[in-house]
Amino acid sequence: MSHYNHILVATDFSDQSSKIIQRANELAQTNQATLSIIHVIDNLPIADAGYGPVIPFDGDLTQQLIDNARQKVVQLAEKLAIKPTHQWVEIGSPKFEIVNIAEQNKVDLIVVGSHGKHGLALLLGSTANGILHYAKCDVLAVRLFND
Ligand code: AMP
Repeated sequence: MSHYNHILVATDFSDQSSKIIQRANELAQTNQATLSIIHVIDNLPIADAGYGPVIPFDGDLTQQLIDNARQKVVQLAEKLAIKPTHQWVEIGSPKFEIVNIAEQNKVDLIVVGSHGKHGLALLLGSTANGILHYAKCDVLAVRLFND
């Protein structure tokens, strides 16, 4: 049976995310794997100015978004004893950022929900679908149902 060494759980902080995190934690324990967590701040209008990404956005508001996200990730990570070096808050496209962090950190299993905040009518949400498409490692989509 295959054995995972590094599992990355992606959370969008939606109501059902505790189910995904719990599943990832169980898998990490069974495999004696390292568990990491990521949240990606989506939908900031980032422009590429040729000399790097520019956020034409209110600076304080952006910082507030980042701080809030970090706080939530730290809270979740503390419950699971995830080290600060294994917690990520990124800005950009969730599917690409999640896949990039997974590749850079030799993650061999990404755990996501089948759906996030949107799209419960679909079989698979667009982030989950994108990760399945681009990831070079295994991906587990934890099935979420509309309560
Ligand atoms: P979606 O495909 O957007 O419906 O979301 C499916 C799953 O992808 C969610 O349950 C999360 O596990 C993950 N996900 C979606 N958006 C994000 C995000 N911004 N940051 C981290 N993970 C996310």
